[in-house]
Amino acid sequence: MFKSDCHIHTDFSPDGKQTPQEMLNAAAEAGLTEITVTEHCECNDNAALPAGATPWPDLDVKSYTETFEKLRENSPIKINIGIELGQATQGKEYAAKMTAAYNWDFILGSLHNVRNELDFCYINYKERDFKKLFSEYFDQLYETVLLGGFSSLSHLYYPVRYIYRAGMSVDMSVFDEQIYAVLELCAKKDIGLEINTSTLNDKYADFVPGLKYASVFKKLGGKIVTVGSDAHRADRVGLGINAAYEMIKQAGFTEVATFEKQIPVFHKV
Ligand SMILES: [Zn+2]
Ligand SMILES: [Zn+2]
Repeated sequence: MFKSDCHIHTDFSPDGKQTPQEMLNAAAEAGLTEITVTEHCECNDNAALPAGATPWPDLDVKSYTETFEKLRENSPIKINIGIELGQATQGKEYAAKMTAAYNWDFILGSLHNVRNELDFCYINYKERDFKKLFSEYFDQLYETVLLGGFSSLSHLYYPVRYIYRAGMSVDMSVFDEQIYAVLELCAKKDIGLEINTSTLNDKYADFVPGLKYASVFKKLGGKIVTVGSDAHRADRVGLGINAAYEMIKQAGFTEVATFEKQIPVFHKV
């Protein structure tokens, strides 16, 4: 049965914990038929790291793509090679350079920090007006989609992970107007919506986005849905993929997409 994880990091990403071969082995063990690797390309020049943190080096595109081209030769699983383009609006030149650096199968669009702020994973939510930060996030996410240049929008409400990890909660419906605008623009531009399963084992035990916003995307004319675990470790590869397929069916989709050379390929769910 078709089962694909479209959001995987190896140690080519500074926060990836395992080698390409280890992640590929884990994917085979998890019964995946296909994976897409999506190493980080942060376009904002380390601006969102706390003072004193080790800067992230640029992705070594040559070594990364050659490694996976080689792994493809004997892999029992289909391998697509992509990137996760973070904060493209905060470094448009770098975004354009990385986008053109290889004939990528897939480009995820992400926003991990709002301008002049740390990555959401470093913010102290007890000391900040996080509703204001969230609102800024959705405005800048809209700008990101407006700029475009990617295949699927990753983790629609990324900050929620860290709100819950801080022992707090947030009612996402407060931001419905902004979220719907983002979803509508994705649908209009034929940009996919990623169902990110990484929060399944967290305090926030749901997909990002969950059924409500996946259904809204469908109603607004969205056609392309991708599913990814955002695994940075081998034991997270393929996490929740089947459950996510069930969820998108409930949302009204009959197909999930993968990408080859940035063209969507649809698979029945
Ligand atoms: Zn991300
Ligand atoms: Zn990621």
